[in-house]
Amino acid sequence: MKGLMQNWPLRVSSIIDHAARFHGEREVVTRSVEGPIVRTTYKAIHLRARKVAQALTRLGIKEGDVVATMAWNTGRHMEAWYGIMGMGAVCHTLNPRLFAEQLVYIVNHADDKVIFVDLTFVPILEAIQDKLPNVKAYVVMTDRAHMPATKLKGALCFEEIVEAENGEFKWAEVDENAACGLCYTSGTTGNPKGVLYSHRSNVLHSMAANMGDALGLKSSDTILPVVPMFHANAWGIAFAAPAVGAKIVMPGANMDGQSIYELLDKEQVTVTAAVPTVWLMLLQYLEKTGAMLPKLDRVVIGGSAAPRSMIEIFEKKYDVKVFHAWGMTEMSPMGTLGALKGDMADLPLEKQIDVKVKQGRAIYTVEMKITDDDGKELPSDGKAFGHLMVRGPAIAGAYLKGEGGNILDKDGWFDTGDVATIDESGYMQITDRAKDVIKSGGEWISSIEIENLAVGHPKVAEAAVIGIAHPKWDERPLLIVVLKEGQSATKEEILHYMDGKIAKWWMPDDVAFIDEIPHTATGKIQKLALREKFKSYKLPTATAAE
Ligand code: ADP
Repeated sequence: MKGLMQNWPLRVSSIIDHAARFHGEREVVTRSVEGPIVRTTYKAIHLRARKVAQALTRLGIKEGDVVATMAWNTGRHMEAWYGIMGMGAVCHTLNPRLFAEQLVYIVNHADDKVIFVDLTFVPILEAIQDKLPNVKAYVVMTDRAHMPATKLKGALCFEEIVEAENGEFKWAEVDENAACGLCYTSGTTGNPKGVLYSHRSNVLHSMAANMGDALGLKSSDTILPVVPMFHANAWGIAFAAPAVGAKIVMPGANMDGQSIYELLDKEQVTVTAAVPTVWLMLLQYLEKTGAMLPKLDRVVIGGSAAPRSMIEIFEKKYDVKVFHAWGMTEMSPMGTLGALKGDMADLPLEKQIDVKVKQGRAIYTVEMKITDDDGKELPSDGKAFGHLMVRGPAIAGAYLKGEGGNILDKDGWFDTGDVATIDESGYMQITDRAKDVIKSGGEWISSIEIENLAVGHPKVAEAAVIGIAHPKWDERPLLIVVLKEGQSATKEEILHYMDGKIAKWWMPDDVAFIDEIPHTATGKIQKLALREKFKSYKLPTATAAE
């Protein structure tokens, strides 16, 4: 028997409609690329998004066409984002940190017709535009006064084309399963692959992300998404915040400790989200200046593992609740979030932090399990670790144009490429990326766990662990360390600090000090580059074993 409820398609345009109607005066504050702080509202964004849709229609864009943005988190970016999606086109967020060749590949592969570009990134597109034959127009996201003398062919000024319209535009009534967003994975191996979100998957993900044990946003919240809209949809925040009428504070181009602190403080931010490297910069700034964060209630840390020391400082010194999150572009991106269960509230703080270092529990709509190499499910006992498999309505079923072939197993599970444990209470902990795990004497060593321990040393700014070939053990861990500015340390000093805190056979065989650890376009440690750099490295223990 068929249900008799209204068939109300889940389209993202309904999110901005709702925000404008019921939270119209709620602010979206931006540190603009031009410099000053600018303020707008959901009502104004709603109007200007419709003007964007009109301007794109005038440029010949139709439903199903792909329109790209290469932009920071700003109010204008939201206008472009909702305008593109609202008219039934697909919003392709380009990551400006990718190499030029990768950008060329992505823009052509996606068949981008128009690119919205922030002032900062105009030179990137100028340099590659001759290799982008299908791009008809570039829209520079600024006003006439700040328009650069650009070589971009067909360069248009955002404010001019938007303000020339009247906003009388009716959102496209596309099927809820129609594509609306596109984001490429960074492609550490091979070409980047396109993850194509639908209206439905984005709406479902926003609702799931907004649940109390996930982001738990409320209309009274003020959220600062430091995580970029060009990286996995800013973890869904550009949908989740307007859906509840939370105020948004957009950091624009400045993500250093001082700039982020200023926004947190002046705009009385209650929730914020970013990768650990951003929090490292903020914590260093706070330590240097003695500044505090009285209004900040919670911080979401994800993208890479949050070290215990970072969680402890937020919780103990700044009285900020930490939520560790895990996900991936293919998952829209949120998979798990580390909210404590009710019965954990009475645990001593140390025990609570034991839970918070784990990446968290699956949010509703995400199914999750771990399997062995043969695909057999492993127990959720917090000890067994295996391949982390997921499925759900906001998880990729295929990549754009079928790249990579069939990515699901026969039961519809997607292999995340991560290795993890799941405990009895459902908390998942990432051991490693499958390709980064160190195989020593037939057993696995988690590089993440050693890294997170090493960064707890007061002199260590950043740490990475890679496996180095070993004649006896196959691989042994090498700890690579970047020291904090002005610090010096010996190998013994670092190892002594770690001694007793991890299993003896997990202890790195050597420590290498370097000036900088390379990062991927999404801010993760580039293990591949490190393995390349240290490919002829000989561990002292290797000689002994020979
Ligand atoms: P990329 O484009 O680099 O794949 P993603 O954001 O999609 O960017 O990366 C997803 C991967 O990032 C996950 O598969 C996992 O390996 C890693 N990751 C994300 N969050 C965490 C976390 N909290 N702890 C450890 N690893 C994480």
